[in-house]
Amino acid sequence: TEQTEEWLQSYVEDWVSFYQKHTSDGKVASYIPVLQEADPDDLGISIIGKNGISIRAGDSDIPFTIQSISKVLSFIVACMERGVSYMLDRVDVEPAGEAFNSIMHLEMKQLKKPFNPLINAGAITVTSILEGRTSDERLRPMFDLLEKMLGYRPKINVDVYESERDSSMRNRAIGYYLLEIGFLESDLNITLETYFKQCSIEATVDDLARIGLILANDGVNPDTDEEIIPRQVARIAKALMLTCGMYDASGKFATYVGIPAKSGVSGGIIAAAPPRVRDEDLPFLEGCGIGVYGPALDDRGNSIAGIRLLRHIAKQWDLSIF
Ligand code: GLU
Repeated sequence: TEQTEEWLQSYVEDWVSFYQKHTSDGKVASYIPVLQEADPDDLGISIIGKNGISIRAGDSDIPFTIQSISKVLSFIVACMERGVSYMLDRVDVEPAGEAFNSIMHLEMKQLKKPFNPLINAGAITVTSILEGRTSDERLRPMFDLLEKMLGYRPKINVDVYESERDSSMRNRAIGYYLLEIGFLESDLNITLETYFKQCSIEATVDDLARIGLILANDGVNPDTDEEIIPRQVARIAKALMLTCGMYDASGKFATYVGIPAKSGVSGGIIAAAPPRVRDEDLPFLEGCGIGVYGPALDDRGNSIAGIRLLRHIAKQWDLSIF
């Protein structure tokens, strides 16, 4: 195992240094002022396999805020609190084909629910359903879940939170629209405060890889066999990631990479590659979680080098679920 780890590690290091050169084609998110401070040349990855193998390469120690990746977590927590059918009555599971922060589709006549929980309208609706009176109360179950998965309690990056809150005109507009059409289940201001805080949770690529591993394993922590997320909920989360997780490039990502994944504007990507029957020489590939960080984004809002790196790895290791 140690030898395999070393051998795979050296490959991944080479691939990261190769794709690091691709960061210059992208741009760091600027609509939240503090996010603009990220170094566009950073690129890091962590991969954790079911059998305990763990590989990291590049700038893998840099913490970043999870941004839209939190939408997967809030949906999971809401399903655990209210039940899947309650949630699916209130938010659909169809790709939107619009920008993540689009308001336009909310104006569609006879819209019964937001398209999916991974676009802002859907995510804000989901956050309005979380239980609790204050934003901190509402986020407690999400932090409890994260602590169970990661072994520590992550923190909110207050600078990012404040920057996001103070530059949130569009999310407020979406919120008011949702309020007007009757989709929100609780107070708008507390909902938005909760949403900005969940986006500002800080993590590393290791954390994303660990969460990805648990999702890949249908909600079970392979180290302890404990079911952390109900199997049905983990599966819905992966289906949403595959169909709606990579903004307007989700179809291309499914085609060329083929792994359920979710990205965020800070440049993070979480990927969950479910286990498949594999060549015995490559025990590592029996299901893994992958976390990537590369803040230079393409025009769709996905990490430019991160996507290329994942595409390369998926091809080399035949990770596509198809
Ligand atoms: N905080 C971001 C927003 O709602 C999250 C966006 C993202 O990562 O896609 O504007």
